Amino acid sequence: MSTPPSHLVIIGAGIQGASVAYFTSKLSPTTRITVVESNPTIAPHASGKGGGFLARSWGDGSVTQELHHRSFDLHEELAAEWNLASYRKLPVLSVQPGSSEFKRNKSTPNWLDGLGGGTSRMGDGSDTAQVSPFEFTSEALLRSNAAVLTSSTVSSISTSSNGDEVTSVELTSGESIECDGVVVCMGPWSCLASSWFPTITVPMVGIKSTSIVWPRRSNSDGVALFCGEDNEFNTHLEVYPRPNGEIYCCGVGGSEYVQDSDLKDNLYLDATTCNAQPSRVEAAKKSMHKMSKTYKSEFPDGPETTQACMRPCPPDALPIISTVPGYKNAFINAGHNCWGILWAPISGKILSEMVVKGRSSVNIEAFDVRRFGMREIGKKQGERGRRKGSEQVGEQW
Ligand SMILES: Cc1cc2nc3c(=O)[nH]c(=O)nc-3n(C[C@H](O)[C@H](O)[C@H](O)COP(=O)(O)OP(=O)(O)OC[C@H]3O[C@@H](n4cnc5c(N)ncnc54)[C@H](O)[C@@H]3O)c2cc1C
Repeated sequence: MSTPPSHLVIIGAGIQGASVAYFTSKLSPTTRITVVESNPTIAPHASGKGGGFLARSWGDGSVTQELHHRSFDLHEELAAEWNLASYRKLPVLSVQPGSSEFKRNKSTPNWLDGLGGGTSRMGDGSDTAQVSPFEFTSEALLRSNAAVLTSSTVSSISTSSNGDEVTSVELTSGESIECDGVVVCMGPWSCLASSWFPTITVPMVGIKSTSIVWPRRSNSDGVALFCGEDNEFNTHLEVYPRPNGEIYCCGVGGSEYVQDSDLKDNLYLDATTCNAQPSRVEAAKKSMHKMSKTYKSEFPDGPETTQACMRPCPPDALPIISTVPGYKNAFINAGHNCWGILWAPISGKILSEMVVKGRSSVNIEAFDVRRFGMREIGKKQGERGRRKGSEQVGEQW
């Protein structure tokens, strides 16, 4: 597309959809934006329940280096501009499990006062940070002025008579939303785009993981921990103390790998069905209690919140930031795996540039959906005519 759409529909109100909405609204203020979300609230999955850890240099030397660098910097700028309470830079410690008292030094957080092995500094806080993904998503959507249509599940898309333009998205309710641009931001469920667009394959696994949040506590030092595998509890905790005094923990082990055949049936799409595994909560609680006498004595019953969410992971673990080949006005922004919060601002910016200007300021060749192969079916084999979902409607020639 070289002219901005007049009505862009973004499917999915996670952090990726919100970021596309925000950057598109800045680049093309005349474009009307509608974000369609299946659940009753925004960010009901990983974008509300992920950790929010951000690391600028942890992708150095890989094809995602530029995403890391530019997005880390954008997070810092946006956090200042939006006055985000949950953003801060924070140092990182590597912690080995063990059964000795931790040797304390000035980088040991006050609450790391139980048993473990050695600790070593992984980051001094200059290029590592954190943000609450829910706060980012809410703020981005609010500032985009997008209409957010919750409790609305997209079931298919419809195309023009020559088959190369999306003209509307169809909801399971039977409602149709006319549009002249669409962006698929459905996290793990984005594999459904393979059914909607006959030119592409979107392979995806949803990695369903339990996480926990400890109650607020004053004077909890802001140091993130990356813990080695604790064979006693089968955990490898990632521990993120948040500025509001909570401590978020993931890496509790026992993740479920949900295959795309099940994702296409919308397994766990209803966020109330995507729940924590009690055995993993118990393991995480014991692992944290062992490392922290403070948490064991102040919170013997364990965490305040237990939850689960899905990490969207394509087979090569790289994101899909792409046009949909064969369509003038369809795009996909999904599969951001374990860096979907970090990469949200740059992915949203890239998508907005592609939607509005028809080109991206970042080289995104490695993230093109065509790396999974083009399917030579549908209109590529001469099938033409207007489509409504999988049904061909209107003139054929
Ligand atoms: C435990 C855990 C910890 C993590 N920690 C970090 C971290 O510290 N740092 C980091 O950078 N990343 C982290 N991640 C990864 C990050 O959370 C995800 O990559 C990111 O949230 C994905 O965002 P998304 O918007 O693509 O997907 P989602 O948040 O899944 O949003 C997709 C949305 O689309 C909606 N949807 C799906 N299908 C339809 C449909 N047919 N119609 C309408 N709506 C639909 C869904 O309901 C959902 O709200 C973590 C992930 C997990 C699981």
